[in-house]
Amino acid sequence: MVKIVLFLLVVGYFVFYVTAKSRRSKADEIQAKDTKDTKDTKDTKDTQSELMVRCAYCGLCLPHSEALVSAESAQAYCCEAHRAQGMQP
Ligand SMILES: [Zn+2]
Repeated sequence: MVKIVLFLLVVGYFVFYVTAKSRRSKADEIQAKDTKDTKDTKDTKDTQSELMVRCAYCGLCLPHSEALVSAESAQAYCCEAHRAQGMQP
């Protein structure tokens, strides 16, 4: 009887040890992935961040490099037509 109890204890301990170890390695994988994702996001953010401006005529948001900026009023426009219409009094 004592042998059976000891055997069950050993088996129970073994099962607990194996499941705890696999759970821990999964958590490590997820944590490593999260760290990598965060790093990737930070990298892309560093390389792709650009000032966004809003068209003074229609309100469209666009990168500053693609906007037409009026020299007189320093307003940004999305296209030549909107700049011409925005400049009219
Ligand atoms: Zn516009």
